[in-house]
Amino acid sequence: MKPQDLVRPEILALKAYPVAPSDGMVKLDAMENPYPLPDALGKELGRALASVDLNRYPTPSPQKLRDAIARRMQVPAGLQVLLGNGSDELIQILITALARPGAKMMFPSPTFVMYSMGGTFSGMQAVPVALREDFSFDADAFIARMHAENPALVFIAYPNNPTGVLYPEADIVKVIRACKGLVVLDEAYHVFAGKSFIGKVAEFPNLVVIRTVSKLGLAGIRLGYLVGRPEWVEQLDKVRPPYNVSVLTQAAALFMLDKLEVLEEQAARIVSERRNLGEALKALKGVTVYPSEANFFLVRVPDAGKTYEGLKQQNVLVRNLHPGLKNCLRVTVGTPDENRILLAALREAL
Ligand code: PMP
Repeated sequence: MKPQDLVRPEILALKAYPVAPSDGMVKLDAMENPYPLPDALGKELGRALASVDLNRYPTPSPQKLRDAIARRMQVPAGLQVLLGNGSDELIQILITALARPGAKMMFPSPTFVMYSMGGTFSGMQAVPVALREDFSFDADAFIARMHAENPALVFIAYPNNPTGVLYPEADIVKVIRACKGLVVLDEAYHVFAGKSFIGKVAEFPNLVVIRTVSKLGLAGIRLGYLVGRPEWVEQLDKVRPPYNVSVLTQAAALFMLDKLEVLEEQAARIVSERRNLGEALKALKGVTVYPSEANFFLVRVPDAGKTYEGLKQQNVLVRNLHPGLKNCLRVTVGTPDENRILLAALREAL
């Protein structure tokens, strides 16, 4: 007996989410915050983690952490917070809960690949709707398609990955109002965009917001959170694996939420570097740079494969999106030093 005889054909046809080896590389492929914790803070965190009971299962739905998130992230009263092992898990939970037979999900495309992959895992048909040529959002076309497809679930990354584009707030509101299903606004990059719908979740019965602490500087602890009305959280919570947020994650998150200004200051540095890097990329001959409100840029180069390999040979790791996105690379905004290295390597590799 072979796995091929038993595993569902749509899973056999998938490729696992690609993560390139990055040892010793200037790592600009995964939209991480490049700044480590200040030394003294790291030591203090170590002391906090030392008192964690590793022999016990984590509190399944830790009220203290959910309250701290609600407080620090300005979640309006009356809404609830659901925690995930990264927002990846929240995406899975949402899809699993809504994948009734025949139900569809829709999203502007290209976007974060885990929406459609999650659809495949759960047998929910994904309907991607193409963005315009410049990756801006045609809300009217999207709404017309929504009327035709009647999706149970709509994902909109705000700002979008891998393009970095932030769609106009009025367009998002139009989509939410026109949608008969649940709209999930994925605010993974909100710290760099300074825009959010968290304050508006209560206004719409069919809106939830998901976020992550990954891009803020805590990708390693794997923590995502969903903000929604109690009636949505009640149902979604049934799908959540019982002990999905580890004791170490809970303790680290509680500790860091108290020191959030350190991470926010790092994010502000990234935003200011984004300006410099964007200008420098634009000045390179043959490179098209798309406007980004996130901590990365999508760039189009004459030959993405050649440039990607050329960068790799110089120990710079970015993400190659070709052929899905023709001749496009995605580069994370790094430290000023990393960005200088990237630019010098790019000049060689173009
Ligand atoms: N949503 C978007 C739009 C993303 O780009 C990512 C990470 N690349 C995620 C969600 C998942 O983030 P995490 O699982 O680290 O919380």
